[in-house]
Amino acid sequence: MVATSSFKRVVIKIGSALLVDREKGLRLEWLNSLCSDVSMLREAGCEVLLVSSGAIALGRRQLGLPMRVLKLEESQAAAATGQILLSRAYSEALGQFEFQAGQVLLTLSDTEERRRYINARETISTLLRLGAIPIINENDTVATSEIRYGDNDRLAARVATMVSADLLILLSDIDGFYSGIPGKDMDASRFDSIDEITPAIEAMAGDAGTELSKGGMVTKLEAAKIAMQAGTSMVITSGQCLNPIDALFKGANATWFKAKETPVTARKKWIAGQIELGGSIAIDDGAAKALAIGKSLLPAGVTEVNGSFSRGDVVAIVSSNGEELGCGLVSYDARDAAQIAGCQSDEIESILGITSRGVLIHRDNLVLRSNQTNHGEQDA
Ligand code: GLU
Repeated sequence: MVATSSFKRVVIKIGSALLVDREKGLRLEWLNSLCSDVSMLREAGCEVLLVSSGAIALGRRQLGLPMRVLKLEESQAAAATGQILLSRAYSEALGQFEFQAGQVLLTLSDTEERRRYINARETISTLLRLGAIPIINENDTVATSEIRYGDNDRLAARVATMVSADLLILLSDIDGFYSGIPGKDMDASRFDSIDEITPAIEAMAGDAGTELSKGGMVTKLEAAKIAMQAGTSMVITSGQCLNPIDALFKGANATWFKAKETPVTARKKWIAGQIELGGSIAIDDGAAKALAIGKSLLPAGVTEVNGSFSRGDVVAIVSSNGEELGCGLVSYDARDAAQIAGCQSDEIESILGITSRGVLIHRDNLVLRSNQTNHGEQDA
C-alpha cells in the first residue's frame, strides 16, 4: 500500500468514459466522489491538478450529433460546447469542498515551445499557489490533427513533468497494464509494477489498431515514458468505482511505474547534460558561498551578464576570477538580468516594471560542478 503522504503534487487524468455516460450524460455522483477524493488529498497536504477529458463526449450529446466517428470540425464544435459544461461541472463539484477550479486549455505547442511552456507553467503554478485546482484539457477547438495530442494520457504526462509532479494517476476503465487482452487472452495477467518500459512491454501494449480493446495502453506507455524520464511516477488504476483515488491508496488493483529519481534530480541531470549554454553570469564571492550551501542565486550577487540568452535557457555561472562554478536554468532573459545585476530583490519591480519572485536561478534549477558543494534540494 502506498501512503498519500509520499506525494506532494499529484496529477489525476480522467477519461471521458468515466465522466460521461453515453445515454445519461454527466456521471454526477462519480464526479462528486472524485472531488471528495481531491479534498482528501488536499487535507493530506498534497497539491492536485486534474487533466480531464469529456468535452467532446458531453458536447456531442448537447448538440445532438449522431453516434458515428465525427468529422474534425464536428469534434471541435462538440468540444466548444462540451468544455463549458465540463468546466461548470467541475467548478460546482469542487465548490462543495470550498475549492476554486481554474480552467486551463493547452495545445501541443504550449507544451513544446519554450516561451509558451514557461508561460503555461507559470499560470498553473500560480493557480496552485493560490489554492485553486487546475482543470486541464487539450484546446480541441483550435487543435487540428497535425498539431494535437489527441489523447489526454500524453498531455497529462507533459503537464505532470511541467509542474514537477511526483505522481501521475491515470484513471482508466481497466485496472492496470496487462500482458495480453483481459477477457480474450486466457493467460493475460496484470503487472503490479513496471520498472522499465522494455520492447517486450511495448509489444504487450499492442498497436494503435487494438487500442480500444486494451484500454488505450499504447498512449499510456508513452505517458509513462515521458513521466518516468522526468522523475514523475505514474500509476494506472480503474476509475470505475466511486472514490477511485481513495481506493487506490487503500490498495486497489493498479500498475505502478515508479520513477528512479525525483523530478528535481531528473531536471538537474538534464541541466548538467546541456552542452550549448546560452551565456554566462559572473557572481561575487558571497553569492558563490551561498550557492555552495544550497541557496538560490539572487541578482544581488551578480557582477556581470554575458550572452543573449532567453528566460529558461541554461547559462554558465562563473566566479569573480573566471572559474566555472556550474550552470543553471535562468529565470530572466539576458537584458533583464543585466539590468537587475547587483540589485536587491525588492528593487526589481521598479527596475523592470514587473512583480517577480526575485530569484535569478532557483536552487532546484542549479547544478554546481563536482568540486563545489551542492545541497540543491534543501530549503533556502
Ligand atoms: N480532449 C478530449 C475531450 O475532452 C479527450 C481526449 C482523450 O480522450 O484523451 O473530449
